[in-house]
Amino acid sequence: MRLVIKEDISKKRVLVRVDYNVPVNENGDIIDNSRIEKSLKTIKFLLENGAQVILISHFGRIKNENDIEKYSLKKVSDELSILLNKKVTFIKERDFELAKEIVYNINDSLILLENTRIYDLYDKMESNCSEELTKFYSELADVYVNDAFGASHRRHASTYGVRKYLPSYYGYLIDEELNNLNCLVDINQRPFTVFMGGAKVEDKLIIIKSLLKKCDYLCLGGGILNSFLKAKGFDIKNSLATKDDSILKELKILLDLYPEKILLSNELTWEDDKILDININDYKKVMENSKLVFINGTPGIFEEIKYQKGTKELFDIVTKTKAKTIIGGGDTASAVKMFNMEGKFSFISSGGGASLEYVAYNKLNALEEIC
Ligand code: ADP
Ligand code: MG
Repeated sequence: MRLVIKEDISKKRVLVRVDYNVPVNENGDIIDNSRIEKSLKTIKFLLENGAQVILISHFGRIKNENDIEKYSLKKVSDELSILLNKKVTFIKERDFELAKEIVYNINDSLILLENTRIYDLYDKMESNCSEELTKFYSELADVYVNDAFGASHRRHASTYGVRKYLPSYYGYLIDEELNNLNCLVDINQRPFTVFMGGAKVEDKLIIIKSLLKKCDYLCLGGGILNSFLKAKGFDIKNSLATKDDSILKELKILLDLYPEKILLSNELTWEDDKILDININDYKKVMENSKLVFINGTPGIFEEIKYQKGTKELFDIVTKTKAKTIIGGGDTASAVKMFNMEGKFSFISSGGGASLEYVAYNKLNALEEIC
């Protein structure tokens, strides 16, 4: 796939997959509209070239009928309309035939359909990439443009399947992501150091294995560090860590395989019987000597003031070096924002799982040839 150009879309109906999985408060109000803002460049480009734009996106997870209201894209539609100063036609209809009729019969240039995951209520059609849903989406348009970087590691109907039936391209947001992340795909700046923190090691184990083959150092924090410490036989008491013996065994094997690459901090911040943050001292030297640093996940519970020190220190150290510094992951990006350090990193990816998979496997499902 390549970046969309004018000739691909001029005066055509264009189905655009965006990532409007926005953070909301308990009333369902959008608390951060940056995902919507990031979609504007591609939308404006398409509209300026006479395309009719039909937007689709996932939002949250839909497990029952109540979730449909909770995760409706209506509020996103209103916000998009404000940001573009333009009418956005929001289509709630979920029946394939009726929705198609509506789309075919309106001339409005900017349309947003309801959350793609409403179809997960029916045999997980979106997440399982159902043929029926894929066909429905592709019949709405002449051309497909994917600009949902954060969802592009997924083989869903709206990210992966729909390309089977439509000429497919990617938009400006994905283009920017790829251009910035490519230095983590083919590593030509070394030492290359990865900091991996966050909560659950289970989610990231395959990625960790893949990254270990590429990086020079892997510094650990959060629940991931706790799990490795546990695998080593250290008593982490009640700290967050995996309880799965087979995973612990795998972590032990990794520690034996890469004794010099995997760095485990010894300076732990305890509260009662839990490790909630770490001191970054043990990683300082390695970080300072690195030419390329990728950070995914935080060293501690940065959401609480008491346990922000490790995260702040890590960001301080890496942004003071000359290294290229790249952030991946939603919570990690929120931490950067919280400490007002956005301008200090080389690049902050809009994808969590997507940036990790791209860096670990050098590819993304939704951009690969369909099979
Ligand atoms: P991202 O969303 O950037 O991929 P993660 O979700 O993997 O990052 O990691 C960030 C989360 O990890 C934060 O919510 C943070 O509170 C949590 N976390 C970090 N350290 C710990 C710890 N020691 N115990 C429990 N949770 C932790
Ligand atoms: Mg997270």
